[in-house]
Amino acid sequence: MTMTADPRRSVPRTDQVLGDPRLRAAAGRLGPDLVKQAVVAAQQRARTGEIAPTEVADAAVDALPAQAASTRPVINATGVVLHTNLGRAALSPLALDALVEAAGATDVEFDLATGARARRGRGAIAALAAAVPAAEAVHVVNNGAAALVLATTALAAGREVIISRGELVEIGDGFRLTDLIESTGARLREVGTTNRTKLADYADAVGPHTGCILKVHPSNFRVEGFTSSVDVGALAGLDVPVVADLGSGLLTREPLLPDEPDADTALRAGADLVTGSGDKLLGGPQAGLLLGRTAVVERLRRHPLARALRVDKLTLAALEATLRGPKTPTWRALHADPDVLRRRCDALAAALHGTVAAEVVTSDGAVGGGGAPGLTLPGWAVALPTAYAVALRTGERAVVARTERGRCLVDLRCVDPADDARLADAIRAVAVRTVEADEPATDRA
Ligand SMILES: *Cc1c(COP(=O)(O)O)cnc(C)c1O
Repeated sequence: MTMTADPRRSVPRTDQVLGDPRLRAAAGRLGPDLVKQAVVAAQQRARTGEIAPTEVADAAVDALPAQAASTRPVINATGVVLHTNLGRAALSPLALDALVEAAGATDVEFDLATGARARRGRGAIAALAAAVPAAEAVHVVNNGAAALVLATTALAAGREVIISRGELVEIGDGFRLTDLIESTGARLREVGTTNRTKLADYADAVGPHTGCILKVHPSNFRVEGFTSSVDVGALAGLDVPVVADLGSGLLTREPLLPDEPDADTALRAGADLVTGSGDKLLGGPQAGLLLGRTAVVERLRRHPLARALRVDKLTLAALEATLRGPKTPTWRALHADPDVLRRRCDALAAALHGTVAAEVVTSDGAVGGGGAPGLTLPGWAVALPTAYAVALRTGERAVVARTERGRCLVDLRCVDPADDARLADAIRAVAVRTVEADEPATDRA
């Protein structure tokens, strides 16, 4: 569009545009800053002649985000159940409700009967203790790493943490457990070798400087062949505190994942303390779980650092609901029946008929979140042209699929069946865009 008069003259002033009732309402919903940003951007477009001065308010309304937070909900079509970059476990509807209920003023640390202060998060604490009767006491912190930091600080600051060389793991994004532990002021006392560590290696290292033995589950890799490691039961006989970092947050044995250690088994075997994450296999919110002997857990709870790792009231509410509620979305995704997945894929492919070449193919899912490496979960996916991967991610309803074998695989394992129709819509929208643009969808990323 070409403008004859100087467009700057007629661009309406910011306060004038902000007077638009739609923008005033939006300011109440999204906060004034985001609305003002949209107005300023629209004014700029009018100044360059891209839109007419009379269109500024409309353009600002169109450019408003749907919500104040920029985090976008995503449909996880990767087949990876605990995708760390997608926020790991999806919360159950019950946990969601609890989270919303807890958002205002709550009795998180208050006894409504007596009007006195009460133990923070006692509902979640009680639910966790009830789920693992072998634990004498439990405590919850911000995440798995925080649980480990608290444990090593309280038990071994200025002393030694004995750990097998086969368990010096990096958890992801460059974070190494070794660095984390040393940052607490504990010294690492490495024993054994990468592939083999024996009880005698630990026994030889135990001495007056020992703070604790740390047994780390190498959850994100596997060593095969000539290997040996010492289980918690044998270590418990060495007469120093044994901490088992399970990672996964499994509370009790899961037959589907025979190699994943669980809190109940480790405690029964004699561990003094186990640590784990709330948002891995437990299927709850991000949290660090600490379960063990009363004396040890109380020591951690009373440590000054505990306050810095304190868990949020929303987390406590969601965690309790996860523990008390029915099977989680994580559990359902892990245990998804391949036949049911196949039928849902067939239905999706049928719904796409005529829009895009969609083929139902087998697809291996994974636990993810650094858990159960090497384990594949047999399932099904709808295969689309590769260009769809980018287009689906950047579409109106973000869908993250998996690119494999030169195709975009839409795996339904982690998709809530209630979202199947929405997913079909998202794919159709991409198909339409792709046809309209008449160019590969990837070019528009
Ligand atoms: C995931 C993991 C952690 C860290 O837990 P976060 O909840 O991610 O902080 C620590 N140790 C092991 C073995 C893990 O697998």
